Parts: sequence; structure tokens; C-alpha cells
Amino acid sequence: AVLTLTGCSGGDRAGTAASGDAAAAGFAADAKIGVALPDKTSENWVLAGGLFEDGLKEAGFSADVQYAPATNTVAEQQNQISSMITNGAKVIVIGAKDGKQLGTQLQQAADAGVKIIAYDRLIENTPNVDYYVAFDNFKVGELQGQALLDGLEARSGHGAPWNIELFSGSPDDANSAVFFDGAMNVLQPKIDDGTLKVVSGQTDIQQTATQGWEAENAQSRMDSLLAANYTSETIDGALSPNDTLARAIITSVKQAGKDISKFTVTGQDSEAESVKSIMAGEQYSTINKDTSLLVAQTITMIKSLQAGEEPEVNDTEQYDNGVKVVPAYLLPPVIVTKENAAEAYKNNPNLLDIVNAAG
Ligand code: BGC
Repeated sequence: AVLTLTGCSGGDRAGTAASGDAAAAGFAADAKIGVALPDKTSENWVLAGGLFEDGLKEAGFSADVQYAPATNTVAEQQNQISSMITNGAKVIVIGAKDGKQLGTQLQQAADAGVKIIAYDRLIENTPNVDYYVAFDNFKVGELQGQALLDGLEARSGHGAPWNIELFSGSPDDANSAVFFDGAMNVLQPKIDDGTLKVVSGQTDIQQTATQGWEAENAQSRMDSLLAANYTSETIDGALSPNDTLARAIITSVKQAGKDISKFTVTGQDSEAESVKSIMAGEQYSTINKDTSLLVAQTITMIKSLQAGEEPEVNDTEQYDNGVKVVPAYLLPPVIVTKENAAEAYKNNPNLLDIVNAAG
């Protein structure tokens, strides 16, 4: 800010704003902040909405939190974002339903001087996304890959080779490829050396995708995989990118009459139902991405923007959205299994209750 002032003639505020310093202007302490969230398919999105409402109000802002409805979701999210801009939001936080389809709205935002923070999911193919705040998605994938290997070793009752199947998330979510790449970074060498066998042969991201992150899509794909490949072969495990899909895969494996205690499946999000499943010895692992920390970090960014300061970031290399590398603040994900659940959830009373109830 000091540099901007010395470079600008006689305190001319318009001159300051036009000087190229993205965050120079700041805005009113009670400004409107928009939050556009994709859906409620995973617990973390439901939690985030409430936390944004409360946290933004507590910080003195006026919060406008919207979820895209279940039908016509992409178009409705586009409309919600446009309305937030028209209604005078100074910052819009976006958990994108389809991160490739917001170019028009974000151009509208840029023209109106509205800052955009991509929340949890990157927004692609536009220069008009200012910041990204998320858990380290590649690391999430690596932890899932490692957990799958650990679980196979511990639960299958036999040594390598192990038969597995791979699942990835929704193709319209930029995170899906990053999770999958992280996991494959760990698993591919083990597929290549014969430790792991993907019996169906379906190893690329198109084949493994789960449209809309919908449980029913993962369950029906697992049903088909089991029917086509595992009538005589044993299935030892599956890579699942999140908890909702992990439970769908478990349902399918159980319905096929397989022994779930010997089967390993990974997850993500620390959803209550999955923590129960882990404690019951069914799902093997999940990832703790504490939503309250992610929301708090986003609000810290918004406060910096309000004060006319450049928000703190800790990564300026990883998240290329096709047009630019988006400056990011990445939080560290934590792998959770039955062994470390009590420690991992020590600050989360709801999950800790589940762990303690399981004894
Ligand atoms: C999030 C995951 C979540 C998934 C489905 C992803 O973008 O990072 O935490 O499980 O969306 O909602």
C-alpha cells in the first residue's frame, strides 16, 4: 500500500485503484458477501453453509449464502452468482457445481470489481478468479492411495497380489482429477509391478468417473464390476474418492455376499456415517478436512480484502486453471483410520462421540 501511495499523485483515490494493485481499494466493513455452494450431496457442503452464515455475520459482514438447487443446477448457480453481483456483493465465494461454466458470470464480476474466491473446487478457464482456498487435493489423493495399500496388507488375509477397482469423482469437478492423480501417484507403480491388479482393466479417469458424485452411480458401477469380473475372483479393495461413494461401494460388496471385513475401501470428508462405519470395521479410512478451518481461512481472506490488503496465500504454483495459476491457500488434510480416530477428531465433539460410543 505504501508503494501505491508514493506512486500516485496527490491522494487521488481513483488513481490508486487503477494503479494495478488488485486489492488496493478495500470496501465497507459491513459489505455484502455472497457464498454460492454447489449442492448438499456431501455433509461438508451442508456444514459450510451454516458456518459461512455465522462466521460472516460475526465478522460484521452481511452474508448471502445460496445453494444451487438439485435441478438445472449449473444454470441456477450461474443465476445466483449474477444476482449476487447485481445486489452489490464485494466478494463472492464459490464452490462451483461445474468449474468450467462460470466464465460469463466471472467476467461480469470482474467488470463490477467483485473479487472471486474459489472455495474447495478450482474454477477453470477464466482469468477472473482471484484466489483459491482448499485442502491440498493432490495430498488427499496420495493419502487415499497409501491407505488403500495399508488396508489391503492389514485386512485381506493374504499377501500380494491384491485385486482392486478404482473410482474417481465427478468429471465437472476440477478436484476429481487431482484426487485421482494423487492416488495414482502411489498406486500406479504397484499396478506396474504386479502388487495390485485392477481386474476390470478400468484404470483411466473416464472409466472410473462417478457423475455428480452420486452414490447410486458408484453403487451401480460396482454392481456391474462385481458381476462381470468377480464371480470367481476375490475383490480385495477399492479406491473411493469420498465417503458417500465409499458407503455405496460397501453396500454393493455386501449385497454381492462378499466378506466386508476383509475388503478395504478408502474415503474422504469424515462424514458421520462413515466414521461409524470405520469404527464398525467396514470402511477402512477417511480424510479429515475440517470444514470449520476452511471456512475460517476463507473469512480471513475476505477480511484482508475488506482492509485493502493482499490476502495471505501459501501456494502460487499448483493450481493452473488453464488461463493462470490461481494463488492459493492450501490446508493440510489428515488421514483417519480406526487407529487414530480419537486423536484426529479430538476437536470435533460430534465425531468424537461416535468414536467413544464405539468403544
Ligand atoms: C470435495 C469433496 C467432496 C466432493 C463431493 C469435492 O469437490 O473436495 O470433499 O466429497 O466434492 O461433494
